[in-house]
Order: sequence, then C-alpha cells, then structure tokens
Amino acid sequence: MTKTKNFNEQDLLRASETLKAHDNWSVMAHRKADGDAIGSVSALITAGLNAGKRVKWFGADPELPVTYSFLPHYDRYIYRDSLSFDEPGELYIFLDCSNENRGVQGFDVSRNINSLNIDHHGDNTLFARENCVDSLSSSTAELLFRVLYAGNWEITKQVAECLYTGIFTDSGGFTFSNTSALTHLIIANLIESGVDSAHITDFIIQNKTPEIIKLWTYALPRLKLFGHENIFAVVKIYADDFDRAGTDISATTGLPNLIMTLRGVKLIATVTENPARNGEVFLSFRSREQSPVTAWNVASFMGGGGHQRAAGATLKKANVDEAASRIEAYLLSHE
Ligand code: AMP
Ligand code: MN
Ligand code: MN
Repeated sequence: MTKTKNFNEQDLLRASETLKAHDNWSVMAHRKADGDAIGSVSALITAGLNAGKRVKWFGADPELPVTYSFLPHYDRYIYRDSLSFDEPGELYIFLDCSNENRGVQGFDVSRNINSLNIDHHGDNTLFARENCVDSLSSSTAELLFRVLYAGNWEITKQVAECLYTGIFTDSGGFTFSNTSALTHLIIANLIESGVDSAHITDFIIQNKTPEIIKLWTYALPRLKLFGHENIFAVVKIYADDFDRAGTDISATTGLPNLIMTLRGVKLIATVTENPARNGEVFLSFRSREQSPVTAWNVASFMGGGGHQRAAGATLKKANVDEAASRIEAYLLSHE
C-alpha cells in the first residue's frame, strides 16, 4: 500500500490559504461519486460562492445519483471525461479522490499543475501540487470541515448540510470504525450550525424507489456464503437485473452495507456489471476487523484500492462470473 506522508495540522491552514489565494476554482471528485464526494464538492462550492469565488464543478460520471439532488449547486455539475488543466490562474481542486486517474482524465503529474488535493484515502498518491490528506478522517467532508474551520470560513447552514451528508454516508451513519470522537464533535458543530439531522437523513436513506428494492430482490438470492464458518459473502449483479428492475447503476448504493449486516460475515464483495457500458464490472468490498484479509487487500489484488475496510475496483473488460471466481479463489487462499 502506498504510504501517505504523515498528516500535519498545518496542512489544514495551508489548504485554506491556497483556497483563499485563488478566485477561480475547478472542483472535482472521484468517478462513481458517492455521498462524501458530492457532499464535499457541494460544501466547498457553496463556501466558495459565499466568499465571492468563481467555481466550476466537473466530473467523469455522465450523471450524478439523484439521491443527492437535494444538495446545493447539484445543477452546476458538468460532465467531462477529460480536461486540459491549463486555464491560467485556475485552481484545480480534487476532493475524495485518491489518485489522478480516479476522476476527470488529463491530469499529468509531471506538469506541476496548480492543484489542491483534499482526501482521506490511505492509498492517496499525493498527486497534486498541494496535498491535505488525512487517512484517519472518517470522510473527506470531515477533513474539509477542519480546513474551513482552520481558515475561519463561515459554516452556513447550507455548507453544514453538505458536510453532514458526506460524513454520514462515509461513516455508515456513524457505525463504521472510522467514526471517532472528533467525528461526533464535528457533527455536533454542524447541528449547531442549523442541520436538521432527521430531515437530512430522510433524504439520504429514506429514499429508496421500488425499482431499487426490486433490483436488490434479484441480486440477494444469489448471495453466496463460503469459507470457514461462512465468513465471506459474494453477490453478483448482472446488467439484465437493472433492465428488469427499471433502474441504473446508482441503485447498488447501500447494498454492500446491507450485506455486511449479516451475522458472522467478515468480508463481502459485490460484483456488478455496468448496464451502461459493455464489459465494465464494478467491485465493492467491505470487511470487519476480524477478517483474515481486508477489503483493501482484495481490491488491490483486483487492481483497485480505497480504504482498509471499504474498497473497490473497476474492471474495464470483464465478466461478472469470472471476476467473482477470481475473488473467491483469492479469499479462500488467504483464509
Ligand atoms: P464503494 O464500494 O464504491 O462505495 O467504494 C468504497 C471505497 O473504495 C471508496 O472509498 C472508494 O473511493 C474506493 N474505491 C472504489 N472503487 C475504486 C477504484 N476503482 N480504485 C480505487 N479506489 C476505489
Ligand atoms: Mn467517496
Ligand atoms: Mn470518502
């Protein structure tokens, strides 16, 4: 695992100063954007607009998941497969993005691009000119709060709602082991800034359409438990499931965490065929402390990465059954 340099409290203030020193921002997060990616970007865009910055939001997903359409400036999102990263005076900001290949393409690390990387992935490659990376943060949103707080940026109710969304989603609603006392202190601060937590969580989790549940009912009977005392679980989802359910790839959000609620299971994988792109297969992994291998171990074996206990990979030309077999063989050989 690529080791990130030790995080230093001064990185927070330095990141804030860099934000203040630039009037034009292009903000981006990782592909297949999740609640932390979108919550962090919308928080920073909101704070930036409040401070008079000109901001743009780019991303490599054709569309963002509708779940997060309640967040401010969701409509500003611009889909770009690649950018030239050469606008004079522009600050290119990456949030929740562990390396330059996980987002909009075209970022050449050898060009010393005017860029800022704020992230919490332990395998972040520190690809930007300036990096504020703390792998102990539950979420990028938690770290971004600390950047904004260090620089005395105003945390308005809107900014607080975005940050709350990011922290809530990446900490599994404050249930994952990345949730710290500091996470809760920051959440308390966000609630004091006006967040109505019950209202926000209604948007984030009480939002499943019948189509999403239908997709899960196709996938779950394929759940395979294996290994000593059935500590491993794999679920396969095919493109045809999405067609029959009448939904898209974003409908798998939350499914890995649901499978992780199975008693006795230590590591789970979902193997999903992208219905929109032939041959593309998404892998999601989750693991518990007692697992003989971490989610990160198996994700990196499959060419991806992420966190120790929540990780993923994208296979460009693959087959669901073959990918699942490789994962199963890897897990059985590492018990
Ligand atoms: P997911 O299972 O999609 O919720 O992702 C879990 C974690 O793994 C997140 O922190 C992702 O950023 C990370 N992750 C997902 N896919 C990849 C990938 N292809 N490469 C590196 N990290 C990934
Ligand atoms: Mn993310
Ligand atoms: Mn994150």
